[in-house]
Amino acid sequence: MTTETLTGVSLAGHDLHLSFGANKVLRGVSIDVAAGSTTTVIGPSGSGKSTLLRVLNRLHEPEQGDILLDGKSVLKDDPDALRQRIGMVFQQFNLFPHRTVLDNVALGPWKLKGQSKEAAREVALEQLDKVGLKEKAGSRPGNLSGGQQQRVAIARALAMTPQVMFFDEATSALDPELVKGVLALMADLATGGMTMVVVTHEMGFARSVSDRVLFMDHGSAVEVGPPAALFDDPETDRLKRFLSEVL
Ligand code: ADP
Ligand code: MG
Repeated sequence: MTTETLTGVSLAGHDLHLSFGANKVLRGVSIDVAAGSTTTVIGPSGSGKSTLLRVLNRLHEPEQGDILLDGKSVLKDDPDALRQRIGMVFQQFNLFPHRTVLDNVALGPWKLKGQSKEAAREVALEQLDKVGLKEKAGSRPGNLSGGQQQRVAIARALAMTPQVMFFDEATSALDPELVKGVLALMADLATGGMTMVVVTHEMGFARSVSDRVLFMDHGSAVEVGPPAALFDDPETDRLKRFLSEVL
């Protein structure tokens, strides 16, 4: 990464509710992420972490509650416009296998942002440089390691100049020796001024990089606070039990 400062904006979700049929997946979740800060979301499988991210960028519309970006409600805006402001990185990289790494990163700025192909490629090269993969620009994704592919996926998200970045178990599919490089890149983004919401099982990252940790269980935000408070002094039995299983 260069020392260029990223410009994340604040993100908040207030009292978000969502059900799938009779399954209440979000039961009034609130999250408050200050501009340039990182909140890590932890919790057992099925607790609603991915759904929370999907509601925050309106892939699912909340049944109740509000979402604010930079202090303004976005629920009446065009969902596509919102999604352009929020970059997303998933467990699966979802790169186009038959396109070059460069084109994978350039497609968004070109097709979604309407930049010229040349300008989009320039942006893409810059981002690939930042994630340390400029020399792979002409390669196909299949010739890269999983860790490199995930860094390309991060470059692809950054090429859209997002104001917030979401990571949903971005390192869960990687071989153990490749996890560190991706986490280091995420840590660089976090300290570089990006606003981030990170769903992860990497408790080391949660503790050392995040400004706040939010513990979810059964669709509720059970505890939220600075990492030291949650990890060293959990208040609820639910968080104590969770930590005893993962630490
Ligand atoms: P987590 O990411 O914490 O593992 P999820 O947000 O993926 O949890 O899932 C929370 C709950 O919502 C689970 O019970 C899951 O089965 C359910 N769920 C998630 N997405 C859907 C969907 N598209 N349709 C129906 N149920 C869903
Ligand atoms: Mg999930």
